[in-house]
Amino acid sequence: MRLNNDLGTLEDPEVCYILTLVPTATATGGICTNDVGSDTDPCQGNTPTPNPTVTPTPPTLTDFGIEFEGTWSDAEKVEVLMAAIETGTALSSLRASSNLVEAFRTVLQETNSIGAWRSIVFSRATNSGAFCITNPTPNSSTQIASISCDTRVVMNLYTSVHEFGHIFSLRTGNVVMGSVSICNNEWLRGERGWGSGPGSRYSTPPTICAPQGQLFTDFQQNPAPYGTTGQANEETAADMFLNWVYRKLASGGFLNRDWRPHVTATPTGLPCSQTPGGCDDSAAGSGNARFNWMETVMDEIFAARNWNS
Ligand SMILES: [Zn+2]
Repeated sequence: MRLNNDLGTLEDPEVCYILTLVPTATATGGICTNDVGSDTDPCQGNTPTPNPTVTPTPPTLTDFGIEFEGTWSDAEKVEVLMAAIETGTALSSLRASSNLVEAFRTVLQETNSIGAWRSIVFSRATNSGAFCITNPTPNSSTQIASISCDTRVVMNLYTSVHEFGHIFSLRTGNVVMGSVSICNNEWLRGERGWGSGPGSRYSTPPTICAPQGQLFTDFQQNPAPYGTTGQANEETAADMFLNWVYRKLASGGFLNRDWRPHVTATPTGLPCSQTPGGCDDSAAGSGNARFNWMETVMDEIFAARNWNS
């Protein structure tokens, strides 16, 4: 079953962020108990009182049960690991007590019939474009899903979380997460409340009900237009999950911003879709509305699946 076709990005804007999050080696220190040390023998033979700063061992890709097949760079593996850590952190906030690895694995992978965690496999393929396809692997006792990416995809943090969003949707029955527009009651994901920019290009003058082409940003990994309604639902669900994770972590995601092309900014007169940062939408609170909707849905799903205990 084809679930998505996400364009990988060719840049790696999160490198510095990643570097700051990779824990450094454990720092240790000590103080002398007799306070009579010298420069050459600060403790004068006495044993210093340990005063270590304990740094928790960071989780690894193995801890998350994430495997790679084919050629993946170390930088890409770091992006996937950080995506797992951040997704697990967001998911663990909904549980009464758990660590982030357990939260990630409980929600996205679950155990098989003999109680062993299932894995997620990132593999390489030759797709018809630079995108990934996330497939469930129901016939495997050891694997929950395969994320198959074209060799031209350079995996980054946000694309990884988007793909985890597909696995979340697979495991929760493809609950549709999106907004309803007033375009003759046609469902559209809309251009307000997303985290990083407009999702689509439109004709001139813009017809909001008819997106013409996709615009890829960190928080809209696969926006309109789509080939099928099913694809629209699946891609929006995955992007809603992505935005929820980062809004939950207070580091991006849903924003009270308006990216509609037929609404103009004051005083520039430019369309909101062409205004850097979009137009202020705090009065409507579109980003808050999306986030609150997701919070409700996530609580319902966690309760139904007993993931919150
Ligand atoms: Zn997708």
